[in-house]
Amino acid sequence: MLRTYVRNDQYTIQFGKRSRLEVPIGSELKAELGLNRNQRLRVEVAGEPKWRGEQNRLEIVYDETTESFRAFQPVTVPDSRLDSPLASHEAALDVGANNLVACTTTTGLQLLYDGRDLFEQFRKTTERIAHYQLLLEDQRESSKRIDRLYRTRTNRRNHAQDTLVRDLVERLYDEGVSTLYVGDSKGVLSTHWSAHVNEKTHNFWAYRRFINRLEDVCKEYGITVEEESEAWTSQECPECGEREGTIRHEDSLACPCGFEGHADLVASESFLRRQIAVGSMARPVYLKWNNHSWREHHSPPSLVETTANEAYTDQSTASGGNVALGEAQDD
Ligand SMILES: [Zn+2]
Repeated sequence: MLRTYVRNDQYTIQFGKRSRLEVPIGSELKAELGLNRNQRLRVEVAGEPKWRGEQNRLEIVYDETTESFRAFQPVTVPDSRLDSPLASHEAALDVGANNLVACTTTTGLQLLYDGRDLFEQFRKTTERIAHYQLLLEDQRESSKRIDRLYRTRTNRRNHAQDTLVRDLVERLYDEGVSTLYVGDSKGVLSTHWSAHVNEKTHNFWAYRRFINRLEDVCKEYGITVEEESEAWTSQECPECGEREGTIRHEDSLACPCGFEGHADLVASESFLRRQIAVGSMARPVYLKWNNHSWREHHSPPSLVETTANEAYTDQSTASGGNVALGEAQDD
């Protein structure tokens, strides 16, 4: 992805009838565009800023899907202006292996990002890596082809992850969310998931990278990220508070009181209720990755391939040397 940053004192944006952005460019490009030494590149911009204030570093990203450039301008606004109804809502995340992110907001929005297809791609590349590793001649530890496959696998995952973070944070921002709760990694990585799900989340989803990226983008949008313990939230019934008697089976959570719901969405909702009072929920939004963007889907992700994926993960992590999945955390 094409992305560049412009220091806060190096650019100017003017909003009005003909909004425009001026950025410095290199001398070669200046010559090409016929600009003199003291001139900067001037481009028209569309859109209205939600916030005005002291400008911070500008981020310019090329969006391949719409073939356009997008500029993100974080601004610092006085605290007195932050308590507008626009930005007083809160949200909580549940990070998982099959559903990468489940999120609930105090406005009643629920989001679910399905990671199954993405994991399937990751798994197939991993299989190819293992295949070529078997064909290596003695002594050799890797080959150009294997290195390239590792890179492809990582880049693809990172691309999906970065896009997910931006999609999520933009939705939260539009919803007026100013505080986002995520599970503290201690709780997340020890109690919340079983060992092999942890393995999968570490190797495939690179949890730390995800959280770091999330914190960066939230900062851009003025959203505060808070780490809180989310112990039990994945087993807790949101209706009656029962913990011990609930039954979690794949993606569903059922309670003796009669409640039944999507386990990950419920977990993010219970996690949020622990921090703040929450009203009732609207229909969840299901998001699927299509290699470019996260698209909304009408129905919840299917459960069909789950078992195969899980079985595979078990096998490969149990194979000792972690032949292919064991690539060092690539961040
Ligand atoms: Zn219940």
